[in-house]
Amino acid sequence: MNDKKRLEKMGYRFGGKNKHAAVKICEWTRESLRGKGVCYKEKFYGIKSHRCLQMAPGVNSCNHKCAFCWRDINITNPKWNGPIDEPEVILNKLIEEQRKLLMGFKGFDKTDMKKFKEAMEPNQVAISLAGEPCLYPKLPELVDLINNRKMTSFLVTNGTIPEMVKKLEKHQPYQLYVTLAAPNEEIYKKTCGPMIKNGWKKIMKTLSLLKKFKRTVIRLTLCKNLNMINPEEYAKIIEKAKPKWIECKAYMSIGYSRDRLGPAYMPTHEEIKKFAKEIEKHSSYKIVGDQKASRVVLLTA
Ligand code: SF4
Repeated sequence: MNDKKRLEKMGYRFGGKNKHAAVKICEWTRESLRGKGVCYKEKFYGIKSHRCLQMAPGVNSCNHKCAFCWRDINITNPKWNGPIDEPEVILNKLIEEQRKLLMGFKGFDKTDMKKFKEAMEPNQVAISLAGEPCLYPKLPELVDLINNRKMTSFLVTNGTIPEMVKKLEKHQPYQLYVTLAAPNEEIYKKTCGPMIKNGWKKIMKTLSLLKKFKRTVIRLTLCKNLNMINPEEYAKIIEKAKPKWIECKAYMSIGYSRDRLGPAYMPTHEEIKKFAKEIEKHSSYKIVGDQKASRVVLLTA
């Protein structure tokens, strides 16, 4: 079975002539429609989980092979390969696919029908489904399109393409996330398996650009026995970059990551809270929130 067929079986739906972009219903969108809870981003930042479009402009394009990644990292290329679909084509097609995917909720008696109607009009785009979005050459145009449609965009990048982040200064996503997956270069190489040279230097360059953006988050994806160490080193990098928020987030043993890491690397919520307290101790950031279900703690300056 080819990769696309396999991903479609897992719930991905591709959009555009060249089929490099895709959408997949987030588990929290489902939970919200069932009235069983919302994602921590709704709790912390006020977006609506039931109106969120979880998408990727380039599913197969990533220059990292992170040990904690829940996706299949064997299908990714470190460079953008092939023709490029236009942002408008992608966004329209993926919204259409999301509506089709959500249709099943209509016949389900536990569905909150008011939310179901609202879900047909997504107003939040999580550009975080798979791959490294900064490899998509038309990312600034995609962000502009989302902004022009009065939708919010959460762009999650691994930080290794500062030249694209620089371009985005004039095309700002609603919220820019940079994943900081290590306190230093040695642990970065072990954790992220970069397929590029100078990955760490590039991430530091991206972090130096954050002050130019309105809403910024540095997310620490923490794995026990791997990168959940040296909080003082993390704090030093964070203090220099000055993001608006920090998320200390537990690695979750899900998807393909189970073959690489597994439950032994998954911190408990208590362990995440303890690590966040260490970040608080070594920086000017204060803990302002947490959510147990996602094992995440939020800090702000
Ligand atoms: S913001 Fe993220 S976790 Fe929340 S509903 Fe969207 S994709 Fe899911």
